[in-house]
Amino acid sequence: MSKRVAIIGAGPSGLAQLRAFQSAVENGAEPVELVCYEKQGDWGGQWNYTWRSGLDENGEPVHSSMYRYLWSNGPKECLEFADYSFEEHFGKPIASYPPRAVLWDYIKGRVEKAGVRRHIRFNCPVRQVEYRETDGTFLVTVHDHDRDVIESEVFDHVVVASGHFSTPNTPQFEGFETFNGRILHAHDFRDALEFQGKSLLLVGSSYSAEDIGSQCYKYGVRSITTCYRTRPMGFDWPENWEEKPLLQRVDGNTAYFADGTSKQIDAIILCTGYLHHFPFLPDALRLQTNNRLWPLGLYRGVAWEANPKLFYLGMQDQWYTFNMFDAQAWYVRDIILGRITLPERATMTADSQAWREREETLDSDESMIRFQGDYVASLIEATDYPSFDIEGVNQTFLEWEKHKHEGIMTFRDKSYRSLMTGTQAPPHHTRWLDAMDDSLEAFLHAPSKRPATAEVDG
Ligand SMILES: Cc1cc2nc3c(=O)[nH]c(=O)nc-3n(C[C@H](O)[C@H](O)[C@H](O)COP(=O)(O)OP(=O)(O)OC[C@H]3O[C@@H](n4cnc5c(N)ncnc54)[C@H](O)[C@@H]3O)c2cc1C
Repeated sequence: MSKRVAIIGAGPSGLAQLRAFQSAVENGAEPVELVCYEKQGDWGGQWNYTWRSGLDENGEPVHSSMYRYLWSNGPKECLEFADYSFEEHFGKPIASYPPRAVLWDYIKGRVEKAGVRRHIRFNCPVRQVEYRETDGTFLVTVHDHDRDVIESEVFDHVVVASGHFSTPNTPQFEGFETFNGRILHAHDFRDALEFQGKSLLLVGSSYSAEDIGSQCYKYGVRSITTCYRTRPMGFDWPENWEEKPLLQRVDGNTAYFADGTSKQIDAIILCTGYLHHFPFLPDALRLQTNNRLWPLGLYRGVAWEANPKLFYLGMQDQWYTFNMFDAQAWYVRDIILGRITLPERATMTADSQAWREREETLDSDESMIRFQGDYVASLIEATDYPSFDIEGVNQTFLEWEKHKHEGIMTFRDKSYRSLMTGTQAPPHHTRWLDAMDDSLEAFLHAPSKRPATAEVDG
């Protein structure tokens, strides 16, 4: 009887797992029985935008933290799939920083081609995973909202690909209860136009603060203040954007900061990160970590050392994304197919510890990028995932960093060479700051120079 594998989540990681198995079958492997449970009504994970915040149409916590006008925050050349290039998908080279809808289309293109949608059960949040010592199987319980039934199935393996940028970390500051404006977490931010003409405070100094601030700047915010706990982001911000040390308290509409200064503000967005949250897993199977490059307990970053029939994908802090999820998914697939044999638990733990020790020495973005590049390379070496120029990806990340420091509002106008096809991306037809329409159509087609009502109509 073929093995049964449950995949939790149909975001880029879960879809990579489906594609990895389909690729093995394409190359002659015996099929395994796959069931991918997806909480949302469609695939793509974070990239499946919703206007909703709070609870979704089924009363489940909304998963995606993405917002309108979100454009890739890094070059697409760093995340390109090695087995499905952007050029193959779009039929032509495209610019390096696509908006969300374009990346969503690309993610979907590969799995549509692979024909794996039939394995996915949508609107099916996993409620519980139980490991049964008696026969070494997992009992997975889900709520199928389409039929409104709660049901359980038995699996030999479980792959947790439920993401970790959905459950907000929300600190409390003195005076929040009586603040005269909106306070929200980045998870619930949807549309920069809401903050047009407002003075906005962003608590945090990572991607969310940088990017939400940039969107709001682009769409006409009056002023932006970001505040940091450890160090400022240090970019060359526009004139209406300042960085301050951490917020201490608010009083009415005045925010007070650690350097003794204060500022009038209209709204606060907490860009304070996310929690790894797996409410469906018992303690013995549950990864407990903060957002870091090497969470402990996962051999080669994927196999749950305490019970290596269970796997996690994409749980690391991420420089590399889509092609790292692929490298992981191919590796997990080969463990399940018996092509890779896992060592004893003590050896797995020692291996993880060695990666962790190296992680703790990292002191620059470059060292972190190289660390994750080495990790991805080490996985790819072990499987038939097409190998690609990891050093080239590292170099592209470093160029991107340089471009951000040269101009935080202009770096998205740069373009890079594909490490998969060698093609140089064309510059985008419109400067990012002027590109107000984030649709796929607007991105792929340059605006026509003349009004559409031309001579044709007479
Ligand atoms: C605001 C924001 C901007 C980002 N921008 C970029 C970017 O520009 N470039 C980039 O490369 N990366 C970006 N990322 C990182 C992004 O998280 C990854 O690109 C990618 O989406 C991670 O894929 P994943 O499949 O691991 O997780 P997710 O995309 O989070 O997908 C997880 C899936 O699991 C499902 N799920 C969760 N719980 C359950 C359950 N109990 N039962 C069933 N299904 C469940 C969810 O509905 C979801 O579909 C961004 C992330 C955020 C939050």
